Amino acid sequence: MTKAMVLVAERRFELRDIPAPTGPPPGGALLSVEGCGICGSDVEQYEGEVARMGMMTFPCIPGHESIGRIAALDAEAGRRWGLKLGDRVAVHGVTPCGACAGCREGRSCMDAFYYGFRSLDVGSGLWGGFAETMEIAPRTRLYPMSDKLSIEDALLFNPLAAGFDWVFQQADVKLGETVLITGGGQRGLASVIAAKEAGAGRIIITGLGRDAFKLEIAKNLGATDTVIVNIADLREQVNAITGGAGVDKVIETTPLAFAPIADAIALTRPGGTIVLAGLKANKPMPEFPIDTVIQKRLRIVGALSTSDWATKQAIRAIESGRYPLNLLHTHSLPLERAEHAVHLLAGEVEGETPLHISVLPGLKG
Ligand SMILES: [Zn+2]
Ligand SMILES: [Zn+2]
Repeated sequence: MTKAMVLVAERRFELRDIPAPTGPPPGGALLSVEGCGICGSDVEQYEGEVARMGMMTFPCIPGHESIGRIAALDAEAGRRWGLKLGDRVAVHGVTPCGACAGCREGRSCMDAFYYGFRSLDVGSGLWGGFAETMEIAPRTRLYPMSDKLSIEDALLFNPLAAGFDWVFQQADVKLGETVLITGGGQRGLASVIAAKEAGAGRIIITGLGRDAFKLEIAKNLGATDTVIVNIADLREQVNAITGGAGVDKVIETTPLAFAPIADAIALTRPGGTIVLAGLKANKPMPEFPIDTVIQKRLRIVGALSTSDWATKQAIRAIESGRYPLNLLHTHSLPLERAEHAVHLLAGEVEGETPLHISVLPGLKG
């Protein structure tokens, strides 16, 4: 038996004992889960939005940012992955099908399997990180992780990978460029680290007054300028910083807000790139300055999830020890308190200002 927090319906978790397979699944592995990070997708899933979009059904074990140790391993799969029992690995949350046109042509998979969103009724049901044991399917991308890292540092691989994907692969930030990052959440701060790694000359990050401590962290990670947008006028500030030239690249990470997109379009230099990574709950933008986009020949790119390359870069940056990552993790909670973790991240807990939250099955609470 393995303990798991099962999301049985929207806003309803149940702690259950679930029979775990006794040996490795054919072509796969079993993972003894050490920890799982959470992000906005967990909140949307908890609120029932992901189910309403037809992308999952209840019941389901959430958790798509997992790290653990290999507890059972199919021999052939072990050779393919280059892994052995006891190895510590990070699990990529998205497993491509390997067969669709997207997979064959090296683009995004159209039929991928998402950890944390597959039904409990499929196979062992152990497809999420909110559990002591997780099943690892054959084509899963696994990344060895140093035993020396704290689990909290190690779990930053997921937000950091997003930062590397957006900054390097989507925005193509070059040495000396000026980057504006809107939003000081975990992914905004991850983008600061990635921009620093890319050699950006100026890294400007925005946040709200209540995020002041996050902007302080951003400075420690390499941001050169911070703007509190409900106090200062962002456009004035950025024009002052860039001498009116505008920024080369924008990484837009804020959830729900449209003003940062309008600001990004106004502040990006002609020919610059804007990466959109902050979802807006399916709402259309009321006024989109399309003529400005055309006149400035801007490139606007949508970014979701992260790539294999970016995940490897993120792990390399974590293992380098160059960044004070401990500043980013604010909460570690036992498995039994996974629901509280989601409430925390959703900003529903008075007096708490979470940044990165780890759910740790081994933690006693
Ligand atoms: Zn996530
Ligand atoms: Zn595919």
